[in-house]
Amino acid sequence: MNPLIEFSQEEELFRESVQDFASKNISPVWEAMDQASSERAVVHKDMISKLGQQGLLALMCSPKHGGQGATETMATIAIEELAYADPSVATAVYTLLNIGWPFILEMYAKEEVSGTIIESVSRGEAFFGIASTESQGGSDIANLKTRAYQEGNSFNISGTKSFISGVNEVFNLSWGGGWLLLARTGGEGYKGISAFAAIARENGKEKAGLTHSLFHGAGRHALSTGSITFDKFVLPKSNLVGQEGKGFYVAMEGFNCARILVAAACVGATRWLLEKAAEWIKEREIGGKRLSSYQSVAFKFAELAGKYEAARMMVYRAAKLFDKIYIAKDAVFSKKELNGPVALAKMWGPQVGLEVAQEVMKWYGAASFVSSHPVQRSMLGLLSYVVGAEGAQNVMQHIVARELLGGDYIR
Ligand SMILES: Cc1cc2nc3c(=O)[nH]c(=O)nc-3n(C[C@H](O)[C@H](O)[C@H](O)COP(=O)(O)OP(=O)(O)OC[C@H]3O[C@@H](n4cnc5c(N)ncnc54)[C@H](O)[C@@H]3O)c2cc1C
Repeated sequence: MNPLIEFSQEEELFRESVQDFASKNISPVWEAMDQASSERAVVHKDMISKLGQQGLLALMCSPKHGGQGATETMATIAIEELAYADPSVATAVYTLLNIGWPFILEMYAKEEVSGTIIESVSRGEAFFGIASTESQGGSDIANLKTRAYQEGNSFNISGTKSFISGVNEVFNLSWGGGWLLLARTGGEGYKGISAFAAIARENGKEKAGLTHSLFHGAGRHALSTGSITFDKFVLPKSNLVGQEGKGFYVAMEGFNCARILVAAACVGATRWLLEKAAEWIKEREIGGKRLSSYQSVAFKFAELAGKYEAARMMVYRAAKLFDKIYIAKDAVFSKKELNGPVALAKMWGPQVGLEVAQEVMKWYGAASFVSSHPVQRSMLGLLSYVVGAEGAQNVMQHIVARELLGGDYIR
């Protein structure tokens, strides 16, 4: 264990319990799950139910709503271990979305709305994620087009959200669930955006004004992505999350919570990749010599192990800072101070994971090019976090540069 990252005894025991759960329930089935969902749209209800029984869903919410009142550090530990057991990262991402966004919901939504959603999520009967991205440019959240008009005690919402995780889960889990939906209630720019608890199905029934379609992604198959179109979709005013016009800020806090966990998922998968690589290069003989005895291989392995260590430290540094701000409520730190460390972790974790995966594929040679190869499944899952999910790579670089150079020096 690295002395720069200190874990309490409670955290160490929690890690052991997640490792035990994941090695028995996830490691043996992750490849079959990935394969099944790549062939047809399958919702892995048994796995979701087990995650709920293990207490991992809505982990950071309060026990009165079925959560564990856990810290971001504990959530980070859980996600790292789930991704080690399922390095396609699907199981970890299902879990992290259903930790991060319910946490934000509990913080900002009315309890009469958040309570039922979080309880259903915690039991594995509902999904609750984020719906911000639109096809004209997901990174440009401030200019989103989905509109919400107030009519008496309701909001009437129209617009389309694309590349949204959990679409098939919401339409197939017994209770359903939905997303923290961002829609424009006011003028142009980020100040005109509000956040809503958009519940697509309740008690098994689909609400009016909603259509959806599923995408066939390159990897991370065991968690769906798709688009949702809202056409005069009605939500009660009580489903507004936070104040009207403050939805952008609510979402940014959610992204900080979720991005740490995304980076943790990448770190967990990277550990799995490095362990696989170590076994392989020590065993595989080419030209009468083990692969590991070639310096070009062994030195590259050392370099990648260093990058992995750096990524892991960035993730836990951000998680510990999150806990000082949100859990300990230490007034020395402001919420804004999280932006740089979180973006650095989200910038580095997926990038290192992808670099490691590509190098390990080279060490496996042609065998890794077969689409059922586990290293390839992991690489494709990690790729989702480089191309976009929970914020594109360039956007993370933009945030890090802005925090380091100052907002006046970068557009
Ligand atoms: C597997 C997967 C799951 C997803 N799940 C969800 C979800 O659950 N909910 C949700 O709302 N969205 C989800 N997304 C969408 C994701 O949030 C977006 O992909 C992301 O925000 C980027 O948006 P975009 O893909 O439209 O790319 P664009 O915003 O069009 O960006 C294109 C390119 O331009 C770059 N770029 C953008 N702005 C800047 C800038 N200021 N400076 C420099 N470069 C810039 C980007 O880095 C990127 O390389 C998911 C995406 C994937 C791949």
